[in-house]
Amino acid sequence: MRDGFIHEGAEVLIVGGGRSGLHAALLAEDLGGKPVLVDDDPGAFDGPRWTPVMEKGARIMSGVRIGPWIRTWKGPVLMSPGVPPVSWCGQAVAPHFSNVRGELEWAASLWELPIVAIGGTNGKSTTTALIGHLLKTAGFSPFIGGNFGTPFSEGVRQMRQAREEGAPAPFDVGVIEVSSFQTESMQSFSPDIYLLLNITPDHLDRYDSLSQYRMAKLHLAGLFPSSTTILWNAGQSDWREWISRTRARSLFVGSGPELPGPGIAIEESSLRSHGLEEAFSVSTKDYRLIGGGNLQNLAFSVLASVLLGEKLNRPVTSRTMEEGVASFSGLPHRMERVDTVRGVTFVNDSKATNVGAVEAALAGLPDTGHPHVVLIMGGRDKGSSYRSLLPWLKKHVREVVAIGEAREKIRADLGGEIPMEEAQDLFEAVARAFSVADSGEMVVLSPACSSYDMFHGYEERGERFREAVRRLSAKFGGEGRSHGTASSH
Ligand code: ADP
Repeated sequence: MRDGFIHEGAEVLIVGGGRSGLHAALLAEDLGGKPVLVDDDPGAFDGPRWTPVMEKGARIMSGVRIGPWIRTWKGPVLMSPGVPPVSWCGQAVAPHFSNVRGELEWAASLWELPIVAIGGTNGKSTTTALIGHLLKTAGFSPFIGGNFGTPFSEGVRQMRQAREEGAPAPFDVGVIEVSSFQTESMQSFSPDIYLLLNITPDHLDRYDSLSQYRMAKLHLAGLFPSSTTILWNAGQSDWREWISRTRARSLFVGSGPELPGPGIAIEESSLRSHGLEEAFSVSTKDYRLIGGGNLQNLAFSVLASVLLGEKLNRPVTSRTMEEGVASFSGLPHRMERVDTVRGVTFVNDSKATNVGAVEAALAGLPDTGHPHVVLIMGGRDKGSSYRSLLPWLKKHVREVVAIGEAREKIRADLGGEIPMEEAQDLFEAVARAFSVADSGEMVVLSPACSSYDMFHGYEERGERFREAVRRLSAKFGGEGRSHGTASSH
């Protein structure tokens, strides 16, 4: 494996001391490069995980302003997705610099196996994990990672190491989640299959406008060669403007009547191929995930798995797919049922960090004919309005308990239309929600905001929610935790 970007013995600037930076540095060293690590955080490169990188002689520049370093560096630069371009080039999306590349795009250029890439606003991680699970069930050995879990550089590195040791290849396909931060500045990326799950407002704190955020995801369609297949969400209109501009093959995912071309139709209790050469039908009867667009995620996943099986000449049967569908239990913090205490079911959807995810969460709840949910929302606002939630709130939500920095904006957007109270922290919010909810009702944490005003991330917020529920359960007696995502009660 030779890299045209990093050269033996030459320095490479690696920006960002997170996981992407770490794995980029490890791979760069394996390829003979000499990492120079920069981050504005003085402690970014502390800790034992950096030891292997340092041992090979990497240079560290921590606690420095990264802008001057990047702008004046003559050799290759590898960027971590968490570093906002505005911090070094003053623009929300960096223009193209031939010596600057994102970690994921670089890793993809070194990956010699098929790639299934998953993009969109919501459902990426669930779908990435689901495709990985379906493929494993069918006997494949996918590398599952990218924006989700392990950075792609690490997959490339493991493939390389196995080859050098003469060991069998650990993977036969890459299933890669891609975020807009990773795709926005891509110049060449040619996955075999690209899933664009949905685009709804998000990250308006990093992008100048919604159209800029959409472009960060959509411009890929203009890059792809004819060997790429894009799976579009038939229920959204983004494909309309791109279908004549992309060289890629377009397939569609949606309910039967809305499909504008070949793809997969979501039916009552099955997924059926539509206009494809190889017909298939996969039952969804035993699928355990509800709400949050999860049926759509499944349809995307099934079609991607079938296409990949065809590509590798290892067809995946409907039966195998159904086994995988039945045994997938979802990811934590996404519509996850925590416990039922005194008849009140607590659902942790802490990963719902934008309005679209909360809409999907509410839209997927059972229709009981009357509002039956107490919704805990709030945190750090990300710039979009909460008003688009109103129809769903009115249908399902009896009361909103608002927390965090976004409280005032939530009240301004929704107050007067829906009963609302505020809480100082998540524990108080859970206690209040519990006192409001009746037996047979639900308390759902689905914040529509990021967690960084009060927590280190959505996982910590979800853990704290679980802890609050555990306390209630200890006091009042809960039914105990069940695996999988929320279902009606
Ligand atoms: P991502 O990796 O894109 O953030 P996740 O799978 O982690 O996606 O889910 C994020 C949030 O979006 C969760 O609250 C989840 O319930 C919700 N969600 C999952 N799939 C979809 C979908 N297809 N449409 C809208 N919301 C979804």
